Amino acid sequence: NRRIVLAAHPRGLPTPQDFRLEDAPMPAPAEGQILLRTLYLSLDPYMRNLMDAVGPVYAEAVKPGETMVGGTVSRVVASRHPDFKPGELVLGNAGWQTHALSDGEGLVRLGEVERPSLALGGLGMPGFTAYVGLFDIGQPRAGETVVVAAASGAVGSVVGQLARLRDARVVGIASGADKCRQVVEELGFDACLDRREPDLAGRLAAACPDGIDVYFENVGGEVFDAVLPLLNIGARVPVCGVIAHYNDDAPPPGPDRLAGAMTAILQKRIRVQGFVILDHYADRYEEFRREMGQWVDEGRIRLREDVVDGLGAAPEAFIGLLQGRNHGKLVVRVAAD
Ligand code: NDP
Repeated sequence: NRRIVLAAHPRGLPTPQDFRLEDAPMPAPAEGQILLRTLYLSLDPYMRNLMDAVGPVYAEAVKPGETMVGGTVSRVVASRHPDFKPGELVLGNAGWQTHALSDGEGLVRLGEVERPSLALGGLGMPGFTAYVGLFDIGQPRAGETVVVAAASGAVGSVVGQLARLRDARVVGIASGADKCRQVVEELGFDACLDRREPDLAGRLAAACPDGIDVYFENVGGEVFDAVLPLLNIGARVPVCGVIAHYNDDAPPPGPDRLAGAMTAILQKRIRVQGFVILDHYADRYEEFRREMGQWVDEGRIRLREDVVDGLGAAPEAFIGLLQGRNHGKLVVRVAAD
């Protein structure tokens, strides 16, 4: 059994030295347990928050020496559990390792599906995040302007396509010409701006002549600065993530702009609402699975994955995610089957 543990709490952007690959004996299931072989491991931005000494309020931090946590699609290899049979595919949280023991708690059977890894992306947590954040909080109406950054990523790509299904006008922001082209040509966004080119604020204003009604916040930082002056009266801002700040180890330099932001929120009656997707599974997950499954089957929502091979590639791929090197939902193919 191979696993990747946290070697040290990162300072700023993680480095490969913050992770350690370890080999351990293959675990054997006790009565009531099953042994899982990881096929796909999901790499997600929240993992950066779990690597800090004090983790986020919604989850426990990973301590040095502990296996990195993460969502997985696994094959049951051996079972001493009455409800699981060898060969079954399950969605779970086995973390960054090739094999894991489970007592079955929290495992979801996937059946034999064509692209099991989608259960970690558009048909799973990130897709669900887009669905709840956009529909329940953002509430876009036909003809309104929706802006989302990290637009080619796991969450953003679905946000934009869902907003198009509601007949909103969608402007994405991403890094690089390739991603921007794909977001417009394959995902059907109305426009996409390269965040690394100069004058994002000016280009965004030009791309949103009627202002912004829904800003789906994935990144914070300079993108939020460009968005804020364009928000319309009554705008909605679902706050999903602030990935531009996950590696901050000090407050950003420059003047304190909080007063300006609060004044805009007040005067323009903007609704800013943070959400953590874990809270919504009980109420909304079934409906999401049904609707999204149908849209994906019908080709109305397209899901692109960025698949890297082998558990050992996970640290570099994860570091790349925090720098925008992924194009689509980032997953590690840990084993072929
Ligand atoms: P993505 O697949 O979108 O990958 C992350 C992307 O973020 C990168 O590809 C990059 O896109 C962008 N990015 C990275 N650094 C910066 C930066 N400094 N400034 C601007 N953009 C940056 O990841 P996900 O779709 O999984 O996650 C998107 C957001 O959603 C994250 O903030 C994440 O934490 C959040 N999230 C929140 C959940 C919740 O429950 N609230 C649940 C799931 C995700 P590019 O270079 O193209 O701009």
